[in-house]
Amino acid sequence: MICPVCSKDSVTFFYCQDHEFEKCKMRLFQCRFCDTVFVDQNTISIKISGYYKNSYYERPGALSVFLQNVRAKKFEKINPGRILDVGCGSGFFLEKMLEKGWNCSGQEVSRYSLPYLEKVRKKGAEVFYGDIKNFKSAQKFDLITLYHVIEHVNDPVLVLKKIRKLLKAGGTLFIATPNAGSFSFNVFGCKWFHLDPPRHLIVYSPASLILLLEKSGFKVKKFSRFSFEYDPFGLVQSLYNLAGMEFNFLYKLIKNKKINSGKIKKTFYFLTILLTIVPVFLLSAIFSVFLGFFFKQDTIEVFAD
Ligand SMILES: [Zn+2]
Repeated sequence: MICPVCSKDSVTFFYCQDHEFEKCKMRLFQCRFCDTVFVDQNTISIKISGYYKNSYYERPGALSVFLQNVRAKKFEKINPGRILDVGCGSGFFLEKMLEKGWNCSGQEVSRYSLPYLEKVRKKGAEVFYGDIKNFKSAQKFDLITLYHVIEHVNDPVLVLKKIRKLLKAGGTLFIATPNAGSFSFNVFGCKWFHLDPPRHLIVYSPASLILLLEKSGFKVKKFSRFSFEYDPFGLVQSLYNLAGMEFNFLYKLIKNKKINSGKIKKTFYFLTILLTIVPVFLLSAIFSVFLGFFFKQDTIEVFAD
């Protein structure tokens, strides 16, 4: 099997389950050279779009408002101009960037997000519904963001080359994505919250992300070593997964998703989390900062131009 990033032909493999919807088993490969993890799509039983359902997408809530503030803060040093958010989901981030004075455009493939995106459109954002490869714009962008999108993409070089053409000279590309070189993947394996196969088709390591960006015509400017939004939570949820709770129970609770366990188990999980969440979260946050020194944190955030 050829690595989709470095094209070398030396991989290891393992099997994981999809815990979100269909309880099917699939094969994943990891490249021995660049650590990229990718799904063997021959082992997926249904079309990949069948693994996304309404509940996959974000709904508004106090937490999402707080997290959009955290996201927007990253771009405070850039003068507001034109931003394109690729895979903008329900558009909450764009809504925040509108408030900050940005001229906002968003692209999304999921119809589930349309009712929310309509609201953002009314506030002044441009919204494109369809594949990014078909997106056209008369003007180029100062900032293009991909928040946990690139790992869902089957043909990342094509997509990034397209994005390269949409970016102004001197503009900034920002990518946030899970880290296949993380401590968490090595320890939790299939129980790692951010692995999420088969929705995450290709999971990159810092080295393979650099390679991908260079192949697509970008130069990496900066890696951030800690994501408050994604790193501690990845550890916390993976720990609870490892402890044997219903898979991604805390995440489902926060996101108001359907929980499968019966009443007694559900109450037991809920109480366990209630009693342990504060110390577990604090320790995970501290540990994530420590892992960042070695680029072993749960997710990678990169600025490129
Ligand atoms: Zn590779």
